[in-house]
Amino acid sequence: MSVEIRDGLIHWIGPASQWQGSRPTVQIVDGRARTLIPGLMDCHVHYSSPGGPDWIARFSDPLPEISMRAIELAEASLRSGVTTARDMGAPQGVSIKLAHMARAGEINAPNIRAAGTWIAHRGTYVSFARHFGEAHELRDAIRMEIEKGAEMIKVALSGWNEGARPKDAAEIPFSEKLLSVAVEEAHRAGFKIACHANDPASCRRGARAGVDSLEHGMFLEQGDLEAMANNNTCLVPTMSVWDAMLYYAHAVDWPEARKKRAEDLKQGSRAAVIGAVRAGVQIALGTDAGGGAARHGRIAREAELMVECGLEPRDALIAATLSASKLIGEDERGTIEEGKIADLV
Ligand SMILES: [Zn+2]
Repeated sequence: MSVEIRDGLIHWIGPASQWQGSRPTVQIVDGRARTLIPGLMDCHVHYSSPGGPDWIARFSDPLPEISMRAIELAEASLRSGVTTARDMGAPQGVSIKLAHMARAGEINAPNIRAAGTWIAHRGTYVSFARHFGEAHELRDAIRMEIEKGAEMIKVALSGWNEGARPKDAAEIPFSEKLLSVAVEEAHRAGFKIACHANDPASCRRGARAGVDSLEHGMFLEQGDLEAMANNNTCLVPTMSVWDAMLYYAHAVDWPEARKKRAEDLKQGSRAAVIGAVRAGVQIALGTDAGGGAARHGRIAREAELMVECGLEPRDALIAATLSASKLIGEDERGTIEEGKIADLV
């Protein structure tokens, strides 16, 4: 098969023998013995952090350092075949500026869609998220992110931080009601909403909320996955998280409790992905590079982990292209079809 590209678009696809164009006017790239695929899409990265064993601390580095580093990490990602990426949370809107620079062609980077800053309930999640307590503060936080240029909303469900739980407070303070407020507010503004859920109770809640994607979901059970299939909620499994943790658990010699956490994530995550396939949940590939121990530029590893869970190699590729393009809203990319953007690797 041959592909003709004109003005950045796929103009024609077919056997070379049937091509009608004139040779002197085109530049020929001989791709024999190679495979042409749509540009890969990583639905979950954080270019503001390099990943590694102390990834959370890296988000608190000085802002100029974070900003400069993000440019390099985005380029590493591009070199690995990622031509579109969703940046799922960065301190102080760093990712929004990065996305603008990428779009303006000022840096060598994928096409970036930035979520801005994480939104989480007060007393939970990371200190550099945008926190709220009441529903009106949650609405304000979402509006603020949109105003600052976020292209999607990222909320994080999680339990209380150590010592933060008030007496008689619920296990997960980001209640069902608050989550429905977030979904309504994002959708009313025409934005998609992604939900971080990585403990059993958060997975239960996130799966039933009607969010567009559930991120990580390493403790999703069959009932949750059925709810996701019914709600058209896409799963972004980010298995590279535990895969990288297990590497550091041995390389850096982590304490037993931390090793066990990585092992638990692996078991839960693999079961969730296998169950998601069975339940017919849409799966989009995301690595969480930077947001966990996983490094940038290693998207192929995530696809391998999917195949290890029983996905056909072609389905892992679809998760990184067509399914990802649907989640991100990139209708002009993700497949090799006449008329689409020639976003190919
Ligand atoms: Zn993340």
